[in-house]
Amino acid sequence: MSESSARSTGASLEVRQLCMHFGGIRALDELNLSVEAGEVLGLIGPNGSGKSTLINCISGVLTPTSGVITLQHTDITRWSRRQRARFGLIRTYQNLRIFNGMTAAENVEVAARLVGSATHPRLFASDVLRDQDLAPFARRRVSDLAYGTQRKIEVARALAATPRLLALDEPAAGLGEDDTHRLIETIQRFRESSGATVLLVDHDMHLVSSVCDRIVVLHQGQILTEGKPSQVLSDPRVAEVYLGTGAKP
Ligand code: ADP
Ligand code: MG
Repeated sequence: MSESSARSTGASLEVRQLCMHFGGIRALDELNLSVEAGEVLGLIGPNGSGKSTLINCISGVLTPTSGVITLQHTDITRWSRRQRARFGLIRTYQNLRIFNGMTAAENVEVAARLVGSATHPRLFASDVLRDQDLAPFARRRVSDLAYGTQRKIEVARALAATPRLLALDEPAAGLGEDDTHRLIETIQRFRESSGATVLLVDHDMHLVSSVCDRIVVLHQGQILTEGKPSQVLSDPRVAEVYLGTGAKP
């Protein structure tokens, strides 16, 4: 990814006392989290534990009830989504949000234009799609493509925005084994070439433990535990909440 990679050095993230309440539901409950620049952090936890809410607050989709979010030591808590994206905070969605009526190339080009990540967005989009083995789909309308390919296009579009912090919300959902394996390679290559920080939410433990330096487990809007993938995944409390065996931590 030639011309824009210089911008992509990782940004650190700090979340302080973050609360997101929906009526009586405390989706995030005084959450504190630090992610180092260049770190790949896995965020796991059972459904409803607050993973997407956290990414929504960080990316500006939701305004938190209280708390502070800083990116590379800059308070972004009240910034718009657009400002955050231009600062290098890019995310994908649990439920795909790509432009179905556009081609794959147009989707990627729009992302590059939005954040100003390339001098020649059209050429850059071709480069990105080629890098992601998506060149054969460049001129195809996204709605005509298989679900797994659409997911890959969403990730390619995020990469085209040259993130300093990339948040991926369940990128492997609905993917088969081969596509998940390619996603692992994509994230690893991206991290090595860009030095970007990555926040990865997924239920695929092979994916999460393959790419993450550290895993944080959310439960009821709070951090249950955190540590290296091997430690966290062998922690019986994690199995209890994550696998829903019934017992409370
Ligand atoms: P996860 O991504 O870990 O599955 P979510 O962050 O989506 O969990 O949800 C956390 C909690 O917040 C759940 O109880 C969910 O129902 C609630 N929630 C999330 N978004 C909203 C919303 N926009 N309005 C009301 N409740 C919400
Ligand atoms: Mg979610």
